[in-house]
Amino acid sequence: MPSVLHRFSGPDQDLAAALERDVMDTSPGVHWEDIAGLEQAKRLLQENVVLPLYMPDFFQGIRRPVKGVLMFGPPGTGKTMLAKAVATECQTTFFNVSSSTLASKYRQSERMVRCLFEMARALAPSTIFIDEIDALCSSRGATGEHEASRRVKTEILVQIDGMHSHADPGQKGQVMVLAATNFPWDIDEALRRRLEKRIYIPLPAAPERSELLRLALKEVDVADDVDFDQLAALTEGYSGDDITNVCRDAAMNGMRTKIAGKTPEQIRAMRREDVNQPVNMQDFHHALQRINSSVSLTDVKRHLAYMQEFGSV
Ligand code: ADP
Repeated sequence: MPSVLHRFSGPDQDLAAALERDVMDTSPGVHWEDIAGLEQAKRLLQENVVLPLYMPDFFQGIRRPVKGVLMFGPPGTGKTMLAKAVATECQTTFFNVSSSTLASKYRQSERMVRCLFEMARALAPSTIFIDEIDALCSSRGATGEHEASRRVKTEILVQIDGMHSHADPGQKGQVMVLAATNFPWDIDEALRRRLEKRIYIPLPAAPERSELLRLALKEVDVADDVDFDQLAALTEGYSGDDITNVCRDAAMNGMRTKIAGKTPEQIRAMRREDVNQPVNMQDFHHALQRINSSVSLTDVKRHLAYMQEFGSV
């Protein structure tokens, strides 16, 4: 990865160095096949983000790429994974920015936003992933809104607008903004208009939950009694992240019983094969008692309503 720090001078160089260190992710390493389900979201991302990055010359004029994409849905459903998959697939420079981190970490967030987009252009093709975009661009408390936060929001709008009127035509479509939120209804209208494609990332349905279980368990031994369809039925309302946590917990259960009552010395003397045992259905029942779905039905309903009003299909 070429360093672009020489392009920046003065205090901006420090900012660029901080961004390179904290925000640039040189190997997101997520592939489409690592992501269970979400076929519709993958298709929309292919058409609106991947293809314009592959063929910037074609996506001009009436075919100009969208300014930005918003992925919305309950937490832990794969939004970050999708952004990483786009970056991996397109071999773009990947900037992984969380609104809340940026707001708290850098005092000069506004200049940082400008620097971020400048770096993205310098290292194009690039994807800028802004997680928790609601935290920076919330319409919440618009009256008492913090002055600094308002300026950051304005700067993001200016930068997104500037992307497609950039002087160098070769640069067009070479920087993509992907944003994610669990609270789309908090995003103000100005930003919503710029994030032209709004893709709903729903909770997994039963077949996807079964796929998620298989993906999460691909590196562990699974006992013959494990019934994926039954587990998929038992995990209705669980997010992908919840299901991964259930699998992690279940996969630890065998070990827990093997080390129960042992002293630290005895445990240290145990080898992998002494503690390893295939994860079975009982382990899952234990895990499901401990781990509940983290998403409420009320939130799902709100997302569906937002999808109806503002979502892309
Ligand atoms: P979000 O950004 O929507 O909050 P993430 O993409 O960070 O969620 O997902 C969190 C974790 O949940 C991932 O690291 C992965 O283990 C699991 N996960 C969620 N959705 C999926 C999915 N569709 N396919 C595979 N794993 C998933």
